[in-house]
Amino acid sequence: MSLIVHKYGGTSMGSIERIQNVARRVAKWHAAGHQVVVVPSAMSGETNRLLGLAKELSIQPDPRELDMLAATGEQASSALLAMALAAQGVPARSYAGWQVPVQTDNAYTRARIRSIDDTRIRQDLDAGRVVVVTGFQGVDEEGNITTLGRGGSDTSAVAVAAAMKASECLIYTDVDGVYTTDPRVVPEARRMKVLSFEEMLEMASLGSKVLQIRSVEFAGKYRVPVRVLSSMTDPMIPLEEEMSSGTLITFEEDQKMEAAVVSGIAFSRDEAKFTLRAVPDTPGVAYSILGPIAAANIEVDMILQNLSVQGTTDFSFTVSRNDALRTKELLMNQVGPAVGAGEIVFDEAVCKVSIVGIGMRNHAGIASSMFRALSEEGINIQMISTSEIKTSVIIADKYMELAVRALHKTFELDQEK
Ligand code: ADP
Ligand code: ASP
Ligand code: MG
Repeated sequence: MSLIVHKYGGTSMGSIERIQNVARRVAKWHAAGHQVVVVPSAMSGETNRLLGLAKELSIQPDPRELDMLAATGEQASSALLAMALAAQGVPARSYAGWQVPVQTDNAYTRARIRSIDDTRIRQDLDAGRVVVVTGFQGVDEEGNITTLGRGGSDTSAVAVAAAMKASECLIYTDVDGVYTTDPRVVPEARRMKVLSFEEMLEMASLGSKVLQIRSVEFAGKYRVPVRVLSSMTDPMIPLEEEMSSGTLITFEEDQKMEAAVVSGIAFSRDEAKFTLRAVPDTPGVAYSILGPIAAANIEVDMILQNLSVQGTTDFSFTVSRNDALRTKELLMNQVGPAVGAGEIVFDEAVCKVSIVGIGMRNHAGIASSMFRALSEEGINIQMISTSEIKTSVIIADKYMELAVRALHKTFELDQEK
């Protein structure tokens, strides 16, 4: 007997029939003698619907109230799943984040989990029940409901698995694993049977929404074995078959070292680029520009400073599109005048495309193959950033899909290895 955490995403929980299918699958694991904690997302579309209602009332709704609202989606789906399990003869109990409790900090809409008290969950498991814990939410020190950011149920599940030392965290979703790139954009994308934790971390941080980045961070910190697999298969397939399906995130690097140099391609439209023209090229200018941005809790991603021409330089950086409005206000009203910048240019029609692979550590020239492939498609590179296992470029938004397909081909990711 082992303790397993299952996570089901919005599509997997998307209708009563699908919830019944989830219950069948969970019942199968329970009947095989496993202790199961299930972490569901809200039914698909529900979180967007709720946040949309809030936007009808205010352009910038109070984040505390947003969390109070958004958390209801998971409360509903969790209760429905517990009922579906009971209807199939499986004793089950659902809990909201605050009831567990899942303690978080108080950063509404993007809270971080601090601790999870597993006492109540264990009591239920020991009494033979399946425990359903709402994804995406927690409670701060003062008892306010918080949420963990979009896609946060992945993080809830991995954090519960870490806290309870579960033997595996199974992330059931609408694809059958992690692919070389998003199969919705490149139909030739291939599923990877294993993927190193570091590569998954890069893929997630560079825009592959298949797992929320914080869930991967948790998995790394607590060494939680995570498998991404399909919830769309027959729920009654044998356990052994299920356990060897999908993609396992592995901490063993050695087996991957011989494998492909580039493992996957990630992309993100969540980018906004700012350029301050003709800023004085003097010591401290980067700090004068980015200091106030950091102080406003806005994360800067890529930075580019041009060579000085007659004592001035152009300074560009990117932020997440969610922060674009606040960044623009800061630059126009505060930073621009303070540093004596010329024109301030804002561009939201950009995206980031990245190649990722731990094999890049030992191979030179990978970045240049990337640049060549993009140039052959006539795609202009606006900014570049590299680390040991990834190269990212900022390009015009309209070329995103073309770029991803071209790179997928260049690095032969469509071919069986
Ligand atoms: P869930 O609701 O189950 O959390 P998500 O929509 O958050 O599901 O994540 C699954 C989706 O992630 C897939 O439908 C797919 O379009 C997208 N995706 C993006 N990049 C990848 C990738 N590299 N491999 C697999 N899926 C990916
Ligand atoms: N329901 C939340 C969202 O849509 C959390 C999740 O699905 O993981 O972002
Ligand atoms: Mg998700």
